[in-house]
Amino acid sequence: MFWFGELIARSPLRHRRLPSSRPSSIERAQAAYLGLAIGDALGASVEFMTPNEIRHQFGVHREIVGGGWLRLRPGQVTDDTTMSLALGEAILAAGGVDAQRVAEAFDRWMRGKPVDIGNTVRRNLLAFRRSGEPARQPSAHDAGNGAAMRVLPVALACFGRPERHTVAACRAQAHVTHHNALSDAACETLALMVQDFLAGKSRAEVRRQRAVALAAREPAFAFDRRPRDNPSGFVVDTLQAVLQALFSTDGFEDCLVDVVNRGGDADTTGAIAGMLAGACYGPAAIPARWLRALDPAVRAQCAAQAEALLGASAL
Ligand code: MG
Ligand code: MG
Repeated sequence: MFWFGELIARSPLRHRRLPSSRPSSIERAQAAYLGLAIGDALGASVEFMTPNEIRHQFGVHREIVGGGWLRLRPGQVTDDTTMSLALGEAILAAGGVDAQRVAEAFDRWMRGKPVDIGNTVRRNLLAFRRSGEPARQPSAHDAGNGAAMRVLPVALACFGRPERHTVAACRAQAHVTHHNALSDAACETLALMVQDFLAGKSRAEVRRQRAVALAAREPAFAFDRRPRDNPSGFVVDTLQAVLQALFSTDGFEDCLVDVVNRGGDADTTGAIAGMLAGACYGPAAIPARWLRALDPAVRAQCAAQAEALLGASAL
């Protein structure tokens, strides 16, 4: 269990622009959370479509319009965002990343009949209900992207702490539904990338120190060989598409448009890319039309939770 100590209701950190134009850590944290939700809402319209089908229907898909196979309202988000919010609430309520509390929070989330739920998440939350045991056994069937898509609250809650705390907390939250070495590698890399961006590291540094290092350790994740179209829910496919999009574009909007137009698991690639690009570029880079289109309640929850989690990390 990873405790922050006593939490206070409101973070001591305030939303405050520094004299320089560089975004502060808290601004980057909020942009990461809003980016996650925006990428989810944008990508969900084209989830499971091929790039050709997207071209035929949208030309280039670049507006938050809802629809898709889930028949969403414009601005509505899916499990990627709502599981993240459930995880963040559990972390704040427990004062740390506690597997039992996380499993109970996910179980409550599932009972609330979310608009979407991954097969691995459902299977393993049902196993938790039967056994009461919050950590699954290692499984080759758990290499989906369902733990990686919701890792942001852990990155924020552990910001500024030793790297090993982030790694252990990533595993504690992930193993509730996904216990797999590839999923772990993805979760940890994403969380550490977010923290690096929050600390003000450049895209080139983060690419070298995290993404290239991941591919060197786990060659399956090599991401610069060819474009990854139709990325599946396999966490390696997801990360390849996200990393290619992040490092081959120069801005928040271009990154998200690139990744969701690859089709496949587009709400999840959109969510993860939005999280990284938000942390990297900060709130000023997020198009106002996308922020306006996002469900207002979700927008408020993401901004407030980002601030609270970062405040908890400072305690
Ligand atoms: Mg989803
Ligand atoms: Mg998805």
